Amino acid sequence: MELFLPPQVLKAIGLLEEAGWAAYAVGGCVRDQALGIVPHDYDVCTAASPGEMKRVFREERTLETGLKHGTLTVLMDGMPLEITTFRQDGEYRDGRHPDSVQFTRRVEDDLARRDFTINAMAYSPSRGLVDPFGGREDCAAGVIRCVGQAEKRFQEDSLRVLRALRFSARLGFTIEEKTAAALYTEKAGLRRISRERVAAELNGLLCAGDAGRVLLAFESIVREAMNAPAGGSWQLAVGRLERVPRDLPLRWAALLMDSGGENAARQAAEILKGLKMPSRLTENAELLIRWSAPEYASMPPAERLMRMGPEGAKQGILLRKADALARAAGESPAAEQAAAEETEELERLIRENACFTLRHLAVRGPDLAALGYKGPDIGKQLNELLLRVVRGQLPNEKEALLDAARNINA
Ligand code: ATP
Ligand code: MG
Repeated sequence: MELFLPPQVLKAIGLLEEAGWAAYAVGGCVRDQALGIVPHDYDVCTAASPGEMKRVFREERTLETGLKHGTLTVLMDGMPLEITTFRQDGEYRDGRHPDSVQFTRRVEDDLARRDFTINAMAYSPSRGLVDPFGGREDCAAGVIRCVGQAEKRFQEDSLRVLRALRFSARLGFTIEEKTAAALYTEKAGLRRISRERVAAELNGLLCAGDAGRVLLAFESIVREAMNAPAGGSWQLAVGRLERVPRDLPLRWAALLMDSGGENAARQAAEILKGLKMPSRLTENAELLIRWSAPEYASMPPAERLMRMGPEGAKQGILLRKADALARAAGESPAAEQAAAEETEELERLIRENACFTLRHLAVRGPDLAALGYKGPDIGKQLNELLLRVVRGQLPNEKEALLDAARNINA
């Protein structure tokens, strides 16, 4: 098998080989090429120790961030390349980090510590493919299989449980039987993994092409990872998720929406905060869920714009449509049409610069101050007037608004 490697990678491998060290492209980039996918980055592994690597790359710009663990980042003609000494992980006692890292001169030892067979291949132009665990075959068959004994590998590092799901969803692969069984027996280990790392894997899983299938098949594992043991209908949640675009807040909102509304929004926010998600993501998902409840089905589009902003309002339409379609478990021309009409209406309001924020309102703070409003009452009144305007109860005209303000005051 011959793989394409970018010139910068060939150069790095060449420099190491010239100095007498075996060196290979390894991991994701070999897997992706075996699958005909263009890799998004290239990792290199080598027999050279960290000190020896530094000598080989003394003419290049390097970053020593991971040197203790054997990783040197080399800027090869502008391309940052991570080059790592062959490693053998020692014992894992905490389910997260090996207690010790041992360097080795054998590429097979390095491949043996990797998670799945498809990720445990190395390639160099001079030495060809090194594939001791049948990664190429599993790529061809579309199978995720642990290197070695699955239970032990998940006990060593529980994050691998989620990595298995993520790769399965991203590549459309099945999970081999023993590996799948071990996911269940070892899922409790997920509690010991840092929330940020769990979050990153879940985000990758939710936005993968085949997310729906994997979520349905492994509900209890995903619930364990989210730390949300119970909840509404999973099938409906996944049905929604499959029907919204691959956008993080939207996908999370779809999965956690339940029946929408205030309680569901708050529960979703709890889960996302528990995962230490960025607050913007959490707030967007919360907003989408809050205003997607059936009791707001007939909310005027301008009010939606006021409550959710233009982006949120458009995404809200997609979410409610997905909900209707998932509930119909098939087609729903009525839902499609309602969504199309609502989108058109939103776009018209935005295009015509309709009033949906305080910036658009025909009265300002000083106008109300002149009527005798003070302090926080000014803001409250402005918001009250805005609400009446977006609901079509008042025209956005100064005189009418001032009149109304006088009456509200009275
Ligand atoms: P991606 O395209 O998502 O980056 P990748 O295979 O490159 O896929 P990385 O997380 O970048 O995945 O890891 C690079 C390689 O390191 C993997 O291919 C795998 O060989 C190994 N690896 C990463 N994480 C683990 C882990 N938790 N346990 C064992 N091996 C791992
Ligand atoms: Mg990678």
